[in-house]
Amino acid sequence: MKIINPATDEVIRELEEDTPESLDRKVEKLRKGGSQWMNVPLVDRVETLRRYSQLLKDETESLSKVLTAEVGKPLQQSRNEINGARSRIQWMTDNAQRYLSDEVMTEAPGMVEQISYEPLGIICNISAWNYPYLVGTNVIVPALLAGNAVLYKPSEYASLTGLEVARLLQKAGVPEDAFQVAIGGPTVGEALLDLPLDGFFFTGSYRTGKHVYERVSARMIPCQCELGGKDPLYVADDNGDIHSVAVATADGAFYNSGQSCCAVERIYVHEKVYDQYVEEFVREVKSYRLGSPLEEGTYIGPLTRKAQVEFLEEQVAEAVKYGATLRTGGKKAEGTGNYFEPTVLTEVTHQMSVMRDESFGPIIGIMKVADDEEAIRLMQDTDYGLTASVYCSDRERAERILRQINAGTGYWNCCDRVSAAVPWSGRKHSGIGMTLSHAGLRAFTRPKAFHLKQS
Ligand code: NAD
Repeated sequence: MKIINPATDEVIRELEEDTPESLDRKVEKLRKGGSQWMNVPLVDRVETLRRYSQLLKDETESLSKVLTAEVGKPLQQSRNEINGARSRIQWMTDNAQRYLSDEVMTEAPGMVEQISYEPLGIICNISAWNYPYLVGTNVIVPALLAGNAVLYKPSEYASLTGLEVARLLQKAGVPEDAFQVAIGGPTVGEALLDLPLDGFFFTGSYRTGKHVYERVSARMIPCQCELGGKDPLYVADDNGDIHSVAVATADGAFYNSGQSCCAVERIYVHEKVYDQYVEEFVREVKSYRLGSPLEEGTYIGPLTRKAQVEFLEEQVAEAVKYGATLRTGGKKAEGTGNYFEPTVLTEVTHQMSVMRDESFGPIIGIMKVADDEEAIRLMQDTDYGLTASVYCSDRERAERILRQINAGTGYWNCCDRVSAAVPWSGRKHSGIGMTLSHAGLRAFTRPKAFHLKQS
């Protein structure tokens, strides 16, 4: 398998893909090693994952370069990602004892009722490339903390990072037999679905996630899917500082070149502030520096997958054909690499793909609305349900709107953010199950009920 730098089109490395035979051997190892890891006391597993976090810190610079080389993320954004993963690990390790230890629920004379959080066994994590450290952490760290063995398939676009994760976990003290990496693309992913594992945790597109969920369902084992989004954002009429709102929301749409599951993908603006907002927003987007991800100051790097460039060009062409106004960008940037100009479209409608289908790139459509009701109706008009955001000065108004949106996360005066303290979950085509928070720690366990009667 060739690993290609999306900024230069050069082959960085070639890796051997896994085969059905090598996968069987890995599962065999995990079956043996997993039970040992499960019996390591929780306090020691916590210390091991803390050491892993420290190693991420010690090696941030070299790990960032590997990540940037294979996915094209601007170097500073790679560093930010590793720091972000460390803060998630901190929350998880700080809270593991609290949420994974045995829990006494009732204690009557002669009878104790208790929950034990037992690990699932060997879990498989099939992952995406856009934030390999962050989405990897959401699964790998709580799974290991809970005492599971893990078979991890990084995306074929982030395999070098996947191998670094394995190296550092091992260096931190996770036995090799409790964590194995599967290298490869869709064929290897497909083969994983046939293995005798105890749970599947998938991060990726709706299309693949639906397939994974269907393939695994008959086996009655846990299967979680964290999928895509078409996340809406509403700018209400009572915002005092439209300039700041435009700057913050443009960042929510264009950070990581728009390749975030919770990137802002659609914007609705109250008609009273629409003109000013669009002007400030377009000015901000025009100021973004597109270029080599290795140069400090670059904000828009290349897209990780070449095919996405063509998809974005099609979205623009269709929108313009049906009456949208192209305010800036709209095409592949000249030269080598998968660069796409940061793009803003207005006069868009929900008949256009750019307002319906996940773009996953540096492109946004902005629509004018008459009031909150119209904004709610349009925000709800989607197959997805990952996040939704409202910018306004009145918290009650924001909460009233957000409670009517069928999404796993609601933001008031912020967007495109994730915290380890609260659940991360999608609704509708954005997925099923959850990671992060106490629910995400326990997602990798099977609670067992104990009824303990003193004779
Ligand atoms: P993808 O669906 O193309 O691939 C995801 C993983 O599935 C990869 O490892 C791939 O090799 C594997 N795969 C492909 N075909 C398979 C098959 N038939 N069987 C088993 N595995 C298979 O997605 P992607 O391009 O890697 O990631 C982008 C998508 O992920 C976007 O839609 C994005 O929104 C979503 N995402 C969601 C979250 C979240 O937390 N909700 C986080 C990051 C990314």
